[in-house]
Amino acid sequence: MSADCLFCKIAAKQIPSKIVYEDPELFAFEDISPQAPTHILICPRKHFESLTDAAPEDQALLGKLQLVAAQLARERKLLEGYRTVLNSGSGAGQSVFHLHLHLLGGRQFRCICLVAASSAGPRASRCAISLPRIG
Ligand code: 5GP
Ligand code: ZN
Repeated sequence: MSADCLFCKIAAKQIPSKIVYEDPELFAFEDISPQAPTHILICPRKHFESLTDAAPEDQALLGKLQLVAAQLARERKLLEGYRTVLNSGSGAGQSVFHLHLHLLGGRQFRCICLVAASSAGPRASRCAISLPRIG
């Protein structure tokens, strides 16, 4: 545990949150500012500032983050699809420096190729054509 880390404090229940999954390695809780009807953060209990701090021995733990996301998506019947996102570093939008995987679902998502629409290349054009709904 890192003494001044928000998510370590949530894991230790020193700060309240709506925890939706716990095991000895991982915990998951509802995001305080949801960007979709389902927005859950899945975290290792071990404190990593970001993915950059992970090492080969963390491979199984990192894979488990995704598997727990899939389990939660099944439980919540996110049948239309869902997205998992891991921001690493402030340049990627990371704001809490304890590694976490976002699970987002329950709404339509924009194709990832179109997020950076200003640099839309041939791939983005193809996606724009093939996607019936872009939202
Ligand atoms: P990041 O921007 O680092 O990828 O994601 C951090 C996430 O943590 C954001 O979606 C933000 O809404 C969420 N968050 C920040 N502070 C709290 C908090 O105190 N409680 C909960 N449940 N979520 C938080
Ligand atoms: Zn932490």
